[in-house]
Amino acid sequence: MLIVQKFGGTSVGDLDRIQNVANRVEKTVQAGNDVIVVVSAMSGETNKLVGYAEHFSKNPSAAEVDMLLSSGERVTASLLSIALNEMGHPTVAMTGRQAGIVTTARHTKARIEKINPIKMRNALAEGKIVVVAGFQGVSEEGVVTTLGRGGSDLSAVAIAGAIGAELCEIYTDVEGIYTTDPRIEPHAKKLDMISYEEMLELSSLGAKVLQNRSVEMAKKLNVNLVTRSSFCDAEGTLITKEENIMEQPLVSGIALDRNQARVSLIGVADRPGIAADIFNTLAVEEINVDVILQTVAHDGTTNIDFTVPMNEIENAKNIVKVFVDKDEILSTDFNDEIAKVSIVGVGMKSHAGVAAKAFTTMAEENINIRMISTSEIKVSMVIEEKYSELAVRSLHAAFELDK
Ligand code: ADP
Ligand code: ASP
Ligand code: MG
Repeated sequence: MLIVQKFGGTSVGDLDRIQNVANRVEKTVQAGNDVIVVVSAMSGETNKLVGYAEHFSKNPSAAEVDMLLSSGERVTASLLSIALNEMGHPTVAMTGRQAGIVTTARHTKARIEKINPIKMRNALAEGKIVVVAGFQGVSEEGVVTTLGRGGSDLSAVAIAGAIGAELCEIYTDVEGIYTTDPRIEPHAKKLDMISYEEMLELSSLGAKVLQNRSVEMAKKLNVNLVTRSSFCDAEGTLITKEENIMEQPLVSGIALDRNQARVSLIGVADRPGIAADIFNTLAVEEINVDVILQTVAHDGTTNIDFTVPMNEIENAKNIVKVFVDKDEILSTDFNDEIAKVSIVGVGMKSHAGVAAKAFTTMAEENINIRMISTSEIKVSMVIEEKYSELAVRSLHAAFELDK
């Protein structure tokens, strides 16, 4: 069987842990499998490198940042490869480019356009273990790019899809996907299975256990995806098609996203197309706008509030300033002390009352809901950040996810 195994930052967090990963890979090989390993940088390393860049510039060139950040994953790929060699296994360590990963040129959040797996195939045919530096690729022009934070998950899934691996295992520091972040709610339960759709919502709404684009890709390419712990042998969580899951609970999980900021546009000119102009400009910059709220003021102008990821707030400010300068927006306000808490479950499609129960739960805790957005399978609420953990725990109990 051909297996892609991805090891996240904590799993390769120090030299002993890299040795532990080598032992695990060895076991998989000895069981008769071909293995492609994808690694993250050692935990904390990417943040450290970001800090180094910010020491010199508040606004460093994104191309240079990518060049810098891609080095973290190269270190672990090389070290793991050396460790495996020492155990008697032939290996080849590859950068994203060598693995054939071609991306858009959008630095720090590039998208994978295609993968040419020829070098990986040849190495496997020669009996080697392939070790790939995650989180990175190269643009058509040959410039190094990175795939957004948490992007090694995407590297692993995309490689598994491109090369037709039977299984893609994401090894991390928890035993799988839980009903909510087990670090916030110790009573969270591990799920045996979850559908791609629900996982996509959870990760898009803040559960960083899998990068959202990796789930999107797994769904599209039908990759068999398992999340499990690198520190024990417990079985993990299978992420699979909805129809493979026998019993669908009403609510599968709760996600918390503290990395959201609210943009308020006050006194927006009341003309057709203004919202399209603003949000198109944000989309061109690939800024993910989430909850949007529009209200009409007494004087005929409108107010528009929306949320963006915290690390996009400076970009968003620059964009809306253009509209202020054109007198199409009277004033703006920004608030990063907010959080978004969301409940997710495909069971909601056929049940009424989930949103009402969520709002009641917030009311009982005296938590003010600032914004709401819903879809067929989720309800998201924007609240004050200081209440975020309380909100998660009370919703977890209200929907009996600890049972
Ligand atoms: P890695 O470095 O292995 O990529 P991450 O830190 O990116 O790991 O993701 C793992 C973390 O995701 C866990 O330690 C956990 O705190 C967090 N997490 C958030 N929501 C969930 C969830 N629903 N199930 C499991 N883990 C979750
Ligand atoms: N090292 C990168 C990050 O910290 C990518 C990853 O770990 O998946 O975001
Ligand atoms: Mg991660």
